[in-house]
Amino acid sequence: MYLKRIELHGFKSFADKSVIEFQPGITGIVGPNGCGKSNISDAVRWVLGEQSVKSLRGSNMADVIFNGSEDRKAQNVAEVTLVFDNEDRFMNVDYNEVEITRRLYRQNNEGEYLINKEPCRLKDIVDLIMDTGLGRDSLSIISQGNISTFADSKPEERRGMFEEAAGVAKYRKRKLESIRKLERTKDNLDRVEDICLELEKQITPLKRQKEKAEIYVDLKDQLQSIEVNVLVKGIESLSDSLNELNQSLDLLDKEKVTIEGQILINEQQNESLKKKMFDLDQEVNGLQGQLLTAMNNVNQLETQKVEIDANRKHILETTNKEDLEARMEQLKAILQDAISEYNDRVNRYNETKEEKLTLEAFQEKIVLK
Ligand code: ATP
Ligand code: MG
Repeated sequence: MYLKRIELHGFKSFADKSVIEFQPGITGIVGPNGCGKSNISDAVRWVLGEQSVKSLRGSNMADVIFNGSEDRKAQNVAEVTLVFDNEDRFMNVDYNEVEITRRLYRQNNEGEYLINKEPCRLKDIVDLIMDTGLGRDSLSIISQGNISTFADSKPEERRGMFEEAAGVAKYRKRKLESIRKLERTKDNLDRVEDICLELEKQITPLKRQKEKAEIYVDLKDQLQSIEVNVLVKGIESLSDSLNELNQSLDLLDKEKVTIEGQILINEQQNESLKKKMFDLDQEVNGLQGQLLTAMNNVNQLETQKVEIDANRKHILETTNKEDLEARMEQLKAILQDAISEYNDRVNRYNETKEEKLTLEAFQEKIVLK
């Protein structure tokens, strides 16, 4: 693996797109002071995720974007791409060439990272280059300042730098990460133990609650079955009562039909009795007329008797005894007939009256029913 090419566009002094090709072996970049040599190494660190504005020799991240010159206006985007030859698969990806790009926009001070033109996270880039010893803080890139720091540093610090250069640093970093992970896991374990303790404390009251709940469920079931039994009994007794009531209703219906028939018969009887009474009234009226006539006749006969008695005296004086007796007998017979007819009619009148009274009583009884 080696750095094959750097493409810069709008980064620091590289306003136009600039491409710097590297060949295997040593490549030197020479130029006068301030021509932009250090900007190239800044660009490499920037793409590899440098976040320190100071180490990029600026006061703001946007300072890496070309900020104009006398004859050119400032640009809004800085973009740098590092192209690595990866034919030996030193980087753990299945590409012959790996392009890592970083972009920064002046407008919102936001940027983006890409691997082989696909957007990605900074972490993806860090993971990709970590094993190559190319890390942001590695000694693959030694700037002007680093050399004087190296020369002035204590032996221990210098050792650290050698370790870094020898690639031990990545293992140390992993160790540190593992230790941090272990600590986090230990913390988690402690927390789990705390939770277990807390849960154990809850077990006894929960057990009691469970027992109570079981008793409750049992009693509830019993209550339910009792309620069901009571309901069934109630339904049975109600249905018995209903049957009885239905039977009574049937009987009453039959009785009603009978009574209605009786009422009809009674009404018919009543009608016929009324008719009979009317006829009897007519008859009684007729009989009363006949009685009146009979009484008139009796009166006449009595008057005749008086007259006869008066005449008899006269006749006695003028007529002989036989004639007189014969006439007397004749008159007596007439009188007797009249009296017996009179008695007969009086009897019939009384009978009719009685019959009328009986009918009236009977009619009254029917009306009351
Ligand atoms: P020396 O030999 O002194 O180390 P050098 O070649 O390393 O110099 P650099 O420090 O890389 O030079 O470049 C500095 C130049 O880059 C300055 O001229 C500066 O104006 C220019 N520069 C830095 N940042 C920007 C920027 N954002 N826009 C335009 N030019 C910039
Ligand atoms: Mg320089």
